[in-house]
Amino acid sequence: MQSGSAPILREVTQNNERARRIQETSLDRPEKTRIITISNQKGGVGKTTTAVNLAASLAGKGMRVLVIDLDPQGNASTALGVDHHNKVLGSYEVLVQGLPMTDAVRPSPEHENLLCLPATINLAGAEIEMVDVSGRELVLRNALNQYLASVERIDYVFIDSPPSLGLLTVNALSAATEVLVPIQCEYYALEGVTQLVSNIERIKRGLNPELVVSSILLTMFDNRTNLSTDVAQEVRRFFPTQTLEATIPRSVRLSEAPSFGQTAITYDPKNTGSLAYQEAAIELAQRGATL
Ligand code: ATP
Ligand code: MG
Repeated sequence: MQSGSAPILREVTQNNERARRIQETSLDRPEKTRIITISNQKGGVGKTTTAVNLAASLAGKGMRVLVIDLDPQGNASTALGVDHHNKVLGSYEVLVQGLPMTDAVRPSPEHENLLCLPATINLAGAEIEMVDVSGRELVLRNALNQYLASVERIDYVFIDSPPSLGLLTVNALSAATEVLVPIQCEYYALEGVTQLVSNIERIKRGLNPELVVSSILLTMFDNRTNLSTDVAQEVRRFFPTQTLEATIPRSVRLSEAPSFGQTAITYDPKNTGSLAYQEAAIELAQRGATL
């Protein structure tokens, strides 16, 4: 009995210590707005979970944060407790109808510093509807710049992109100053990343010269398996400077939170997954965008 409960007790103690360190850390606001696109064309690697939990972590640290949901599934909007039924104005109207973002950005009930441009299912048709729009790759960038110039200073913008390399993702990458790539610690983790990196290079050359892959985040890490450890090592070899020290463990609490319309940071702040996202957010903020 005693030997069985010891590891759990140790984890509780460690987590309390981590929570204390997170709480004690204060962050400086970045010199200028950091616009971070979360991208990986592979589905289900933790893009949305990463976008909303990093956003909520930084909002909790006093940063003003905007999440742009650019995935027709609208999962980021759900997790941030922001309505996204098909009558709601959102990223579709901004991209296809030229609606100013100020008319569609909503506060998230998660935190007073947190805003969201929701995505509705209408967005599923946007890629086709935008085919004959001139400058269609830069619609989001122009709308976002106009928005940022007209509102109180936003510190971080996270753009959640869909699992494809289509026009929505091109808009997300063209609007960003940096890219964060979540990589799931699984077999074939790096498959597709080479293609993603070469696409990012192409966008950098043609549309957005300042774009950098600033961060790689290892997600769904399971330290009990050799596979996770091996994949993590391989990713760190491939991206030695970009890979964040913090890794996100597999955690049921992270996957439960959206069904309550919450991020894990609000739903269960002391859970190991929430702590890992808060640590990753602090690292991201402290590193700046210099990589
Ligand atoms: P898509 O490509 O469909 O947009 P995604 O890359 O945005 O997917 P998520 O939706 O964030 O991925 O995660 C996929 C699924 O895995 C979700 O059900 C999510 O709740 C769950 N999940 C994400 N991260 C974790 C984690 N660290 N531990 C356990 N479950 C997780
Ligand atoms: Mg997603």
